[in-house]
Amino acid sequence: MNEQDLSFDRKHLWHPYTSMAAPIPAWPVARADGVRIQLADGRWLIDGMSSWWTAIHGYNHPVLNQAATDQIKKMSHVMFGGITHEPAIELGRRLVDLTPPGLDRVFFCDSGSVSVEVAIKMAVQYWYARGLKRKHRLLTVRSGYHGDTFNAMSVCDPVTGMHEIFSEILPEQLFAPAPEIAFHAHWDGAGIAPMEALAKQHKDEIAAIILEPIVQGAGGMRFYHPQYLREIRQICDRYDILLIHDEIATGFGRSGKMFACEHAEISPDIMCVGKALTGGFMSLAATIASTYVAEVISSARDTGGIFMHGPTFMANPLACAVAVASIDLLTNSPWQQRVDDMESGLKQGLEPCRELNTVKDVRVLGAIGVVEMKEPVDVAGLQKAFVEQGVWIRPFGKLIYLMPPYITSKADLAHLTDAMVSIVRRQQ
Ligand code: PMP
Repeated sequence: MNEQDLSFDRKHLWHPYTSMAAPIPAWPVARADGVRIQLADGRWLIDGMSSWWTAIHGYNHPVLNQAATDQIKKMSHVMFGGITHEPAIELGRRLVDLTPPGLDRVFFCDSGSVSVEVAIKMAVQYWYARGLKRKHRLLTVRSGYHGDTFNAMSVCDPVTGMHEIFSEILPEQLFAPAPEIAFHAHWDGAGIAPMEALAKQHKDEIAAIILEPIVQGAGGMRFYHPQYLREIRQICDRYDILLIHDEIATGFGRSGKMFACEHAEISPDIMCVGKALTGGFMSLAATIASTYVAEVISSARDTGGIFMHGPTFMANPLACAVAVASIDLLTNSPWQQRVDDMESGLKQGLEPCRELNTVKDVRVLGAIGVVEMKEPVDVAGLQKAFVEQGVWIRPFGKLIYLMPPYITSKADLAHLTDAMVSIVRRQQ
């Protein structure tokens, strides 16, 4: 990559959440291997991001590469309408086995946002089939994030989710305050009452409560109390509302459990997974419903029982084959021990940040370590400083955070946390 390539990139390629007029610099990357990313100038950086929660086994993993190569020789894609194939069946089997009890009807789709759309459509069709067509709104909590498509965006935090720009077209959903009590704090019941009140008042119009279990990701990197999830499950049962869990970020071990809802020992009616599903190899997601939800949808006479969604690349064999390999890698690895060790390493390594007066909070859960600053940070400046320290860490807003691949060694994790402490210290 030369200067011409980079200027083409700046002029013609949109990057995530970036201006075309004044984009912050994009770092040219040549390759990635294990827990390291190599810049085009030859420097290797230790990856602290797992490419946004995805690359749990690191990069260029021989087992995932092999699964992709083997599958390519057979077929990289074939339509799923009227056809089925082994990669989809094998992946379906694993998802039914791995997800919490009751979730056993799998709908494959392309990305996290689409899986949220699918979950919402399932909830709406469920009530339609039961003859309750007024039940099509969603209830959620503030500080959430569910993706960038319209319905997903409608349940993102109203402030950070850009509701203002799209207010004319976004469906108006119901918002309770963000869960107040932190994961490790004492549960005293505070904060659940507004959710209960909204559910009670609007039960005839609410199709589902949707939330990210335990970890609110892009909406603020907050970890809330498992009892909150249990109470929500009860509210859903009490007022005849479906429960959708968005496990797109948390799924596959990140929070210390295979799925974050296991911290509360409850099951949703519909669950979305994505991101780490293929170990960061390529985009694939799934929406998994309970038998009951699927049966009710399929019982509607006037729709012929059809669920109204069917993406072109549904159950792409290449992505499914890699996902099967990724899940097998994970379940055959000591992932729980690795994530627990990372939790200890992150807690210990980030602790010095707590003393700094620019820092509002330091929190760690599973393989996620967060330093929340009092003020928004200069993303481009910090990225550059991190690169100079030999690490890849991309902050947003007031948050500087780590979620490294599970195979990260103790020494590499210490390098990441040391870099965080040293750069955060400079923000004084
Ligand atoms: N839900 C959650 C909890 C997410 O973190 C994300 C992605 N950051 C999404 C949905 C959207 O997924 P995608 O970017 O694959 O559409």
